[in-house]
Amino acid sequence: MEKKIKVKRYVACQPCSGTGAKNGTELKTCATCQGSGQTKRVVNTMLGQMVSASTCPTCNGEGKTISATCDVCKGEGRQLNEEVIPINIPAGVANDMQLSMSGKGNFPERGGVPGDLLIQIEEEPHEFLKRDGNNIMFEQYISFVDAALGASLEVPTIEGKVKIKVDPGTQPGKILRLRGKGIKDLNGYGRGDQLIHLNVWTPKSVSNQERELLEKLRDSDNFTPHPGKNEKGFFEKVKEYFQ
Ligand SMILES: [Zn+2]
Ligand SMILES: [Zn+2]
Repeated sequence: MEKKIKVKRYVACQPCSGTGAKNGTELKTCATCQGSGQTKRVVNTMLGQMVSASTCPTCNGEGKTISATCDVCKGEGRQLNEEVIPINIPAGVANDMQLSMSGKGNFPERGGVPGDLLIQIEEEPHEFLKRDGNNIMFEQYISFVDAALGASLEVPTIEGKVKIKVDPGTQPGKILRLRGKGIKDLNGYGRGDQLIHLNVWTPKSVSNQERELLEKLRDSDNFTPHPGKNEKGFFEKVKEYFQ
């Protein structure tokens, strides 16, 4: 998406065009270094004469001195400005990633190339959907009636609601996979999936009438656990998820 953010940054002072000199013209070649920005010193040593160069102290290496400073920026050549900058946020960015926009940083004192604007990404957690890399995890509770008889329900995804089918005889902990309903890969390697973890809700309290109905089912053969070879245990499910 595109997001507009308010940024306070130094921009070139308009009246002096970022030079810091009055009207942008009151610049003289530095008398100390003749504009080179360096001062040279000749030192006599046992091996002969050696020339050492250092930054000119008069102009700080800029080669020019200002005879009259700009009234607006007081010679700094820049001004603090608040502006709204549109930022392109690519799909798939994650927490702690850094985006950079060249030239949208601070303008240096008395001219030069402006720096970059660095944008630190902070991801806000979603109310129901959890991120795991490019995959989305979602916990869905279903009643044991829905688990036994099957049901059709709606689940939230990052692109709105999607209908899913719960098969009759669904065991707790089953994971449904919505292919391609996850997050787009930042480097363009496809899209993640949404994984729906089905939890079967066991009533925490029942009315007398409900108790009677359930008591009738207690000894029914179909309600007695008969785990077969096809029932995947916890470890198989975890293994399956990471495939
Ligand atoms: Zn100088
Ligand atoms: Zn100025």
